[in-house]
Amino acid sequence: MNTEMRKPIDLTVDKKDGELRIVWNNGVRSIYSFDYLALMCPCANCKEKRYESEKNPLNVLSGPSGPVELQSADMVGRYAINFSWSGGCASGIYSFDYLDEIDPEKKNSEIE
Ligand SMILES: [Zn+2]
Repeated sequence: MNTEMRKPIDLTVDKKDGELRIVWNNGVRSIYSFDYLALMCPCANCKEKRYESEKNPLNVLSGPSGPVELQSADMVGRYAINFSWSGGCASGIYSFDYLDEIDPEKKNSEIE
């Protein structure tokens, strides 16, 4: 019904708590853990990997890789953030629309 995407009015990258906090223009707050963001990297490579692992019933779990750490976060134009993860991907451009789409809270409420 509501096709208009929210826009962030405040973005806080909290390295201490390992999370990104967004205040949207509709007053709602969203919290994304760095682990989740790194997992949901929108770059073509990571998308492909996610797609492959969804198709493949065989799960090969690698050893503990440790917590994901943020190396840098930079604005890309006015519409996206580039996150660079240590031990992870550095080419993910997270547009605000994408962040809106993968909002963990939103995902939970859609399941109900
Ligand atoms: Zn990636």
